[in-house]
Amino acid sequence: MQIDIAIIGGSYAGLSAALQLARARRQVLVVDAGQRRNRFVDAAGGSAHGFLTRDGSTPASIAAEAKRQLMLYPTVRWLDGLADEARVEADGRFSFDVAGHRVGAAHLILATGVRDELPPVPGLAERWGQSVFHCPYCHGYELGGGPIGIVAASPLAQHHGLMLPDWGPTTLFLNDAYVPTDEERAALARRGTQIEPTPIARIEGSADVVLQDGRTLSMNGLFTQSRTHVSSPVARQLGCAFEEGPMGLFVKVDAMQQTSVTNVFACGDAARMAGNVALAVADGALAGVAAHRATMG
Ligand SMILES: Cc1cc2nc3c(=O)[nH]c(=O)nc-3n(C[C@H](O)[C@H](O)[C@H](O)COP(=O)(O)OP(=O)(O)OC[C@H]3O[C@@H](n4cnc5c(N)ncnc54)[C@H](O)[C@@H]3O)c2cc1C
Repeated sequence: MQIDIAIIGGSYAGLSAALQLARARRQVLVVDAGQRRNRFVDAAGGSAHGFLTRDGSTPASIAAEAKRQLMLYPTVRWLDGLADEARVEADGRFSFDVAGHRVGAAHLILATGVRDELPPVPGLAERWGQSVFHCPYCHGYELGGGPIGIVAASPLAQHHGLMLPDWGPTTLFLNDAYVPTDEERAALARRGTQIEPTPIARIEGSADVVLQDGRTLSMNGLFTQSRTHVSSPVARQLGCAFEEGPMGLFVKVDAMQQTSVTNVFACGDAARMAGNVALAVADGALAGVAAHRATMG
């Protein structure tokens, strides 16, 4: 299958890129493996927050409505499946495998998102997206003013420790993952954040933190610092350069979402230090416009 522009990843960033290209009457193929980063919120019956006009909608319904509107454009094709084995061909075009097809494309947009690696605390992963989160702007408000716990996984816990008191009384569980300096302890104290040095044995109930000394501290919700990994090896297979952020590596792009490989663009969580739905949609729109410009030679 040969196409002008292929988009790998059909969630918020990829859908937004595709919409710009569809409106330019371009032939575009969207390939999607259906593993949105926030699918855990849907599984827990929760809502997404902070995206204009859709605050409180389910993550799945936002993506589904975007796809419905996109697929009304006749130049858009969609393939469910995981793209892999990507390479740059001798003529400068790109190719990859998906769902039994070898797809060739002149331009690629990578919108593959990231996956979260959580600290190995028993009971934490099961509550991801339900009562354990990483982003206070997305899920802090719904915790009703606290109490809020932070499960430290890296020195970024300090950042959480300074922010989260705006959402409720906060306890920072160091859990042997991080040792604040005296200066950092003083800054946390000024914000009213309690420091709990006893390691965590497990999480129970909704967000009850059972410590190794037998005490249990019940929280309305927990935050932790996930390590993020670009979800797909496709960017590496194509030779795209990466950048190191505080949460993990992401695909390096310029101000127009162009990667280090000509005619390969990247957008959304895969191509930024930290993301959310609004930012993914914005990056996607820019990548779509940039890819359109690239088709003009
Ligand atoms: C628990 C949790 C809660 C969150 N809550 C909120 C919130 O309330 N508000 C908010 O704004 N943000 C929230 N976020 C962040 C939000 O989920 C991300 O910022 C957003 O999903 C990024 O969109 P994206 O399109 O870049 O990537 P994703 O939504 O992760 O989508 C990437 C897509 O690409 C597909 N894909 C990957 N590799 C391939 C491949 N090789 N071939 C084909 N398809 C591929 C995936 O299957 C997936 O469908 C939350 C995140 C988490 C983890």
